[in-house]
Amino acid sequence: MPRPSAKKTARLTAIYDALFEAFGPQHWWPGETPFEVIAGAILTQNTAWSNVEKAIVNLKASRMLSIEAIAEADTSALAESIRPSGYFNQKAARLQSFCRFLINRFQGDLNALFAVDLSELRPLLLAQNGVGPETADSILCYAGDLPAFVVDTYTRRIFSRKRMVSEQVDYERLQKLFTDHLPADVKLYNEYHALIVRLGATLCKKSSPLCDQCPIKGL
Ligand code: SF4
Repeated sequence: MPRPSAKKTARLTAIYDALFEAFGPQHWWPGETPFEVIAGAILTQNTAWSNVEKAIVNLKASRMLSIEAIAEADTSALAESIRPSGYFNQKAARLQSFCRFLINRFQGDLNALFAVDLSELRPLLLAQNGVGPETADSILCYAGDLPAFVVDTYTRRIFSRKRMVSEQVDYERLQKLFTDHLPADVKLYNEYHALIVRLGATLCKKSSPLCDQCPIKGL
């Protein structure tokens, strides 16, 4: 990774400003409580958000959307409840494992979890069953209100098309493009990722991107 450059900072800032101007605040993450955000971050792996919403509705209806309820739930009943999210057996096991970790290490107290220093907390999350970098950073940024920049397929696609990274860039190097060139501001990180997702989902599509309508086409 090249050393941080003022030019990249200026470009990333200009892209953010143009996206915010075009799309406005995205109000991420959709979730009523930090735990709902955590559950959503695990459930959204390999599926569309609309499917996660159905699973969350089911969890609420069956009074299972809490750390204790998921930890103690019958695994098959939990899996059935989250069936709309796909990979439901695997995700039920992951949710239960994560909730049991929260209870065993933090007495189920998310304030205690998020009080751990970020440099220790991220590896701790990554050590949990089924928690990869994108899930860990989503939990840190959107449930913990901590400055972890989330990157994803949309980020890779857009910023490789902007020739700021290669198409094969790995998660950590892609993340460093942002964290090396932007202030560690959780509100900025929160909104920037949400705006990238908006651009990737609506205009910078995998095939046939709609460049003529793109707010960052000249940047
Ligand atoms: S939509 Fe087109 S102009 Fe906009 S980021 Fe994607 S490839 Fe670039």
